[in-house]
Amino acid sequence: SAEIIDGKAAAARLRARVGEIAAAFEAVAGRKAGLAVVLVGADPASSVYVKSKGKATVAANMASFEHRLPADTTEADLLALVDALNADPAVDGILVQLPLPKHIRESVVLTRIDPDKDVDGFHPVNAGRLATGLNGFVPCTPLGCLMLLEEQLGDLSGLDAVVIGRSNIVGKPMAALLTKASATVTVAHSRTKDLSSHVARADIVVAAVGIPHFVKGEWIKPGATVIDVGINRTEDGLTGDVDFDGAASVAGAITPVPGGVGPMTIACLLRNTIVAAHRNAGVQLGKDAI
Ligand code: NAD
Repeated sequence: SAEIIDGKAAAARLRARVGEIAAAFEAVAGRKAGLAVVLVGADPASSVYVKSKGKATVAANMASFEHRLPADTTEADLLALVDALNADPAVDGILVQLPLPKHIRESVVLTRIDPDKDVDGFHPVNAGRLATGLNGFVPCTPLGCLMLLEEQLGDLSGLDAVVIGRSNIVGKPMAALLTKASATVTVAHSRTKDLSSHVARADIVVAAVGIPHFVKGEWIKPGATVIDVGINRTEDGLTGDVDFDGAASVAGAITPVPGGVGPMTIACLLRNTIVAAHRNAGVQLGKDAI
């Protein structure tokens, strides 16, 4: 049966590494690297995410600036805050927690963030940089998935990968990263015909669908590596998008939910923030430092 990929341990290693680099950055730059997180409204899940991001930032020797705004904040007021954070030299990374209240247009807010402070990697400029092979910020969840895959498999070149889901946050950047890593990539989505036949050929399966137990164990090629991005709240607690027990009996390796991709997301946010700090402060960071 499959090896269980320990995302929690991988994330802890990455966070410790970021913490060391952040301490060295502070010694050279004379200030801490800083991450600003903006939350509009009081969605309980978002509130928990924002709190744990703040704690992880401080634990990694960086400064956390938390901005909690009321649910009735206007788009103009939120844009004014983004402008202020763009101009603030103590802020290296800006993250606006999604989803935003319905009266605020997410795309308008996300495109207002300075692309060089866009540590979530959602700005179209960063999506374009990823697509064309330029240095930019890559969304944290797919970046974490790629790191887990490379730790598990080493070189991905020539492997067949199926990404299920084509969202701007997970599926599309995941496909771009795998393409860059020279895998042969199929992007499946809600209109895909005969999904199981695509999955059956895949050495790598990344599931980012948002439907519990959607990917069946029988679909998986023996020995494949399965990355389950899904976070679904069900009566039985948190479950992923993959039928874990079925898939684990055929796969070579698989991420659990929780404890797989989830912890890597915040670790990658910290990673992006320390990279942003070096760029913004003009401090050199070794190419393979992190
Ligand atoms: P989304 O709803 O934006 O996208 C879902 C994708 O699934 C769509 O592209 C759609 O085409 C595809 N899809 C839907 N039904 C399908 C079907 N029947 N067959 C094939 N494809 C189908 O979701 P998202 O933001 O990409 O997130 C996906 C999942 O990952 C969710 O469970 C979400 O909670 C989770 N997530 C986890 C993290 C993390 O940190 N681990 C981060 C972001 C999202």
